[in-house]
Amino acid sequence: MTIATAEALPDLNPHSGLSQVWTERYTGALMNTFGPPKRVFVRGEGAQLWDADGNRYLDLFAGIAVNALGHAHPLVVQAVTAQLTTLGHVGNFFATAPQIALAERLIGLVGARDARVYFCNSGTEANEAAFKISRLTGRTRIVATEGGFHGRTMGALALTGKSALRAPFEPLPGEVTFVPFGDTAALEAAIDEETAAFIVEPIQGERGVEPAPPGYLTAARRITERHGALLILDEVQTGIARTGTWFRYQAEAREHGGWQPDVISLAKGLGGGLPIGASIALGRAAELFTPGSHGTTFGGNPVACAAGLAVLYGIERDDLLGNVQTIGARLHDGILALDNPALAGVRGAGLLLAVELREAVAPALAEAALNAGFIVNPVTPQAIRLAPPLILTAAQADEFLAVLPRLLDQLTPGSD
Ligand SMILES: *Cc1c(COP(=O)(O)O)cnc(C)c1O
Repeated sequence: MTIATAEALPDLNPHSGLSQVWTERYTGALMNTFGPPKRVFVRGEGAQLWDADGNRYLDLFAGIAVNALGHAHPLVVQAVTAQLTTLGHVGNFFATAPQIALAERLIGLVGARDARVYFCNSGTEANEAAFKISRLTGRTRIVATEGGFHGRTMGALALTGKSALRAPFEPLPGEVTFVPFGDTAALEAAIDEETAAFIVEPIQGERGVEPAPPGYLTAARRITERHGALLILDEVQTGIARTGTWFRYQAEAREHGGWQPDVISLAKGLGGGLPIGASIALGRAAELFTPGSHGTTFGGNPVACAAGLAVLYGIERDDLLGNVQTIGARLHDGILALDNPALAGVRGAGLLLAVELREAVAPALAEAALNAGFIVNPVTPQAIRLAPPLILTAAQADEFLAVLPRLLDQLTPGSD
């Protein structure tokens, strides 16, 4: 059996100038939703990527916090290959072992006996499922957070707290009230007996890696519980070990009596690069969907679920929770220790970090980093997001720490 790789496609052989050709073809063939691509990549291995011109990069963004085990990890390659060569798809009138095993595994990681999983294909779909579950409570009002991001489909967009993203597509499903993120008193005032659900990210990723203040999620649990509203935690970005615990809320919940949310949304890191999302519901929320309530053709696909199982296995086998904590701290402390005047601080947890800059030079810094062979993300004009593969080594973290001062020195503040 041969597996098609980049090398097997003659057009993609590393060759100077090919990136330019591919970029022109991209522009002619793909809708302009993302702007021109910054690079065309042909191969990845671990935390490294190679572009069509043969240049090597250290990947500190992992395809937007997706490639948990890095690129072409043998566990994922083997799991996907074995599954696809055995059984690739059957649809949801039937069941397969990988989807059942993955659901059981996720329930075990959440640590709740009364949880159930709904599989889909993306983060936005995981939140759509949560949105629909909330409607089945018999209530229709939702509280969401300013600056929050929950996806681009109409339902998830309605919950997204950035009016510039919502405005062109209104009217969106109601009835959504936005509260300032991290403000317990505002939450207290917004939630009442008519609230179906409160949805929140433990760390607002797209907003610029803004962690919820300590105690906020616990207060949200207490307030929603008191009013019979669901607590939906969007862990699409923070889940699957990214911050050093399996799910971000667990770091706080364990210190406050081990509370649980009602719904957890997952995607990004779960499939190690394969598209998969999941909504995990607990208790009564797990019983609200009944046959016909919701569905998907691809959700729970055995190949995607086999990849998910491989990712969870790899995280456990190689103690990546420990690695995330160690390497996350090394990056966090290492950046602060640079004591560079252009730096204002570091936010985040584990391997989801934002390097805060004194000036709005993040796009220029990301560009300079890319040209020097480092992939980072200008998540806001004034912050660079790092979300590398969870397998990042100390030596790779140090490579970035060594180059960062030089990159910062190249920038003229305010030039962007
Ligand atoms: C990325 C993201 C989403 C959307 O996920 P998609 O797979 O792009 O649909 C939703 N919520 C959060 C917190 C995210 O980071």
